[in-house]
Amino acid sequence: MSYNIAVIPGDGIGPEIVREAQKVLDAAGKKYGFELKYTEVLMGGASIDVHGVPLTDEAIATAKASDAVLMGSIGGDAKTSPWYKLAPNLRPEAGLLKIRKELNLFANLRPAYLYEELKEACPLRDDIIGDGFDMMIMRELTGGLYFGERHTTEENGVRKAVDTLSYDENEIRRIAVRGFDIARKRRHKVTSVDKANVLDSSRLWRSVVEDVAKDYPDVTLEHMLVDNCAMQLVRDPKQFDVILTENMFGDILSDEASMVTGSIGMLSSASLNETKFGLYEPSHGSAPDIAGKDLANPIATILSAAMMLRFSLDLDEAADAIEAAVKQVLKDGYRTGDIMSEGCTKVGTVQMGDLIAERV
Ligand code: NAD
Repeated sequence: MSYNIAVIPGDGIGPEIVREAQKVLDAAGKKYGFELKYTEVLMGGASIDVHGVPLTDEAIATAKASDAVLMGSIGGDAKTSPWYKLAPNLRPEAGLLKIRKELNLFANLRPAYLYEELKEACPLRDDIIGDGFDMMIMRELTGGLYFGERHTTEENGVRKAVDTLSYDENEIRRIAVRGFDIARKRRHKVTSVDKANVLDSSRLWRSVVEDVAKDYPDVTLEHMLVDNCAMQLVRDPKQFDVILTENMFGDILSDEASMVTGSIGMLSSASLNETKFGLYEPSHGSAPDIAGKDLANPIATILSAAMMLRFSLDLDEAADAIEAAVKQVLKDGYRTGDIMSEGCTKVGTVQMGDLIAERV
């Protein structure tokens, strides 16, 4: 079997970590008898440098024509990079918002999983961690505050800015259905997070989620206010299975959840549309501070590539093999700098990719 994969290396550490993910994917292809044909696509700063815009229509067309998209990360140092002197709609991050909207990637999945071998990196106390935690944050990605109307005005010398948070019930229903479907494959629990004590959009969210829950009697639904959820994530992260929430709450909570695991360089993510198509990328950014130094941890991107095999290409066995290879490398004591601890062997980006590919 052969599949077309659009690859967006992006900026900063993006090209380095994507290269390692491709190395591991190719090792899995050899073992499990599939071939991935890669087409490189420019996005973010890399596209601005060549085309003057963060994402071209041709790039979108290439992504749409592929079976899935594998991405590194985009963006530069906001203080020093010339990209941030451009108008907001021409900056690297505008490419990211555009591709999500154009490909209709409304469901963002971010696992936050504590590896036994990396327990020391977790900033929480042992009695809170217990046997570890394993949650999936499902964030709505194409609606809400980040896509609502916005404007800035000035009246009598006073500047005023307005952002709009809007959702319709169809947008809420489709992400809720995805959330319940995924909970069914996990521990059968959904925590829907909103701010229903204040926001109308949250009250609609809650009512639609309750409606969807009727079709999933085997899944337990609970509601939680977002401020409480932020607290519960550090008080007792074990209680969560699937956290289902809107765009901005999900943005903030997923970063909190990833920090609680102690290792942002380990966390993958998938953004899916209504079909099997998806865009797969690490949860972290382009880390310009360590770019080009063979210091980046490629594991988040390698695990995102495993999610791509599982969700878009139905290659579950190969995905399992990559996840097992990552665990084995950690068990064997190899660490990149960000997850290094005493007694372990420090390796760079390329060697980490080699070690995982070998074990696959
Ligand atoms: P970041 O995630 O890039 O970096 C935060 C810290 O974590 C840095 O110290 C960095 O060195 C470290 N880090 C991140 N990934 C790592 C890895 N794989 N291995 C080892 N260390 C790693 O966040 P930031 O500094 O806030 O943002 C940098 C740029 O990335 C900005 O331009 C931002 O807009 C962009 N960004 C892009 C995406 C994306 O492409 N989806 C997401 C978030 C941020």
